[in-house]
Amino acid sequence: MTILNADLHCHSTVSDGTLEPEVLAARAKANGVELWSLTDHDEIGGQQRALAAARALGLPYLTGVEISVTFCDLTVHIVGLGFDPANEQLVRGLEQTRGGRGARAIEMSEQLAQLGIQGAYEGALKYVGNPELISRTHFARFLVEAGVCKDSNEVFRKYLADGKPGFVPHRWAALGDAVRWIREAGGVAVIAHPARYDHSPTREYALFSEFKAHGGQGVEVVCGSHAPSEYPRYTELALEFGLAASRGSDFHSPDESHTDLGALPFLEGRLTPVWDLLADRIHRE
Ligand code: AMP
Ligand code: MN
Ligand code: MN
Ligand code: MN
Repeated sequence: MTILNADLHCHSTVSDGTLEPEVLAARAKANGVELWSLTDHDEIGGQQRALAAARALGLPYLTGVEISVTFCDLTVHIVGLGFDPANEQLVRGLEQTRGGRGARAIEMSEQLAQLGIQGAYEGALKYVGNPELISRTHFARFLVEAGVCKDSNEVFRKYLADGKPGFVPHRWAALGDAVRWIREAGGVAVIAHPARYDHSPTREYALFSEFKAHGGQGVEVVCGSHAPSEYPRYTELALEFGLAASRGSDFHSPDESHTDLGALPFLEGRLTPVWDLLADRIHRE
């Protein structure tokens, strides 16, 4: 395997991050990242900017996206890496996936109003860089600004996590569709932050099996959304399922993210890194 300070998961203002793609590229480079990917939620509108910025810095780049999926009534995120961003099926699939976000946001705002929190939709919109991509993160920023909660963790714990009073259930893409869009566009599909889902071990096994059956090839093992104590379990699952391993900070913002770009331990040597599957998709200049 090739040991590399790869960071293949982060977000810009094109989804729910607070930094522009160019600023992220410079931060990745300054932090010693050797292979970078911008993976905005359900959106590839930042890819050309990220690629151009990476090129100017001599930073190897893989195209990226993080697709929202509904699996067994729970939300799962699938990262796509190294795809052709002009692929029509992928572009259409992402458009459909983004489609319900506006109506969902209005419903979230109505629920929050019933709890006595007024103006959440307008408040969240102030933080939105891309009108098609209003997310719970933008609501969390508003609720912190309004003094309802002290930080976004508290917002999710009290209002926005699945089952809380401001949560609006939403149906995202199907697992098989998301994997197919990525693969048919020449990319590799990766299960994002598997430790973050509220799945029983049986459901987790079903997720890995079905993902693999649909042609999924990778799983995040070393990830800013995982605690280091969770790495060994996903190292073993990657080996058991014959999946390549990915590494990414899931960086959103210098104020909110505890893991900075490039600041993660390396993958264990017995794993096959996803970048070994994507050698010919890396933009090097
Ligand atoms: P959405 O796609 O609108 O459902 O928003 C999901 C986003 O909310 C994730 O990508 C994270 O950025 C953020 N998020 C989810 N859970 C939490 C949490 N517990 N604390 C902080 N941010 C969270
Ligand atoms: Mn996010
Ligand atoms: Mn995610
Ligand atoms: Mn993410």
